[in-house]
Amino acid sequence: MKVAFFSTKSYDQEYFEKCNQGTGHDLSFFETSLNKHTASLSNGFEAVCVFVNDTLDKSTIEKLSENGIKLIALRCAGFNNVDLEAAAANDIKIVRVPAYSPQAVAEHAVALILTLNRKTHKAYNRVRENNFSLERLIGFNLYGKTVGIIGTGIIGIAFAKIMLGFGCKIIAYDIKPSQELKDLGIAYEGIDDLLAKSDIISLHCPLNAETHHLLNAEAFVKMKTGAMLINTGRGALIDTTAVVNALKNEKLGYLGIDVYEQESGLFFKDHSETVNKDDDFLRLLSFPNVLITGHQGFFTKEALEQIATVTLENLTDFEQGNELKNEVKFEE
Ligand code: NAD
Repeated sequence: MKVAFFSTKSYDQEYFEKCNQGTGHDLSFFETSLNKHTASLSNGFEAVCVFVNDTLDKSTIEKLSENGIKLIALRCAGFNNVDLEAAAANDIKIVRVPAYSPQAVAEHAVALILTLNRKTHKAYNRVRENNFSLERLIGFNLYGKTVGIIGTGIIGIAFAKIMLGFGCKIIAYDIKPSQELKDLGIAYEGIDDLLAKSDIISLHCPLNAETHHLLNAEAFVKMKTGAMLINTGRGALIDTTAVVNALKNEKLGYLGIDVYEQESGLFFKDHSETVNKDDDFLRLLSFPNVLITGHQGFFTKEALEQIATVTLENLTDFEQGNELKNEVKFEE
């Protein structure tokens, strides 16, 4: 199949070209993101391959359809950036990579926790400057702390298992509890109880109409004072204004995020020579107890290989008229 890749980085091209050998797919890589203004680049292709911050709204999808695109292949798990109704109306199928390496994201969530807690990022700089003072580097033992997990799908389960290894008490909230976690002795709670009991809260649910701003001003009031909040899910699970206020009034003790509500246009690019005009983001950066990474939870060799392999299989399934095992369907 002739496939146009959008938002391509060097590592996408490297892994896709390596895994594409022998499949017969003809891949073209564009650096630009996909939106209604760049959709014209899809002319002459049969499918587009996109990532988390490409904009697949109604107008983009209609332009893709006019250009003859029949398949949108997401090289990620989340599909909150796709208007599924518009895709169905234009007879465009959507496929994704539902599970590529849950450990990659789960381990990154743990990295955020450990860095925020033990302040290794600050210690690294101090030691390089010949400063061996331990003042203000104090952390806390993870052993015995209560970790609340919101969303216990494949990433939430992988994260729960790691935190069990630290000797944490795990509690969980999910609209569909996991039997695997129940069998490990993990208790499911209502979201309010989870917020009230957790020392660390980690978000692993998808972004959708129900979960948008799940952590809003009311939710922060219900939390333990000084709790740590980790978000490797999607930025808009947290209301940015509310989290800034919770940090300002010292209700929230720590914030570690790999995703940000307004990350589109900001993340995955080098803006070091331009002025950042996002005041909320700059305010977040100003807190000493906030750690932000630029959506790199997925970014391991194993995950990139799996993403490329599954995406290429999805393309082959479509081309050969096979069942699309990783299809995302519009549900009315
Ligand atoms: P999954 O589908 O396996 O699990 C999601 C879980 O959330 C399911 O158990 C589901 O029942 C639950 N859920 C759905 N709605 C809920 C609600 N309203 N309240 C509570 N729980 C709810 O997905 P996954 O592979 O574990 O991924 C989780 C999310 O992580 C993805 O949707 C994506 O947004 C994000 N993600 C981030 C990165 C990254 O690089 N930071 C990479 C991959 C995925």
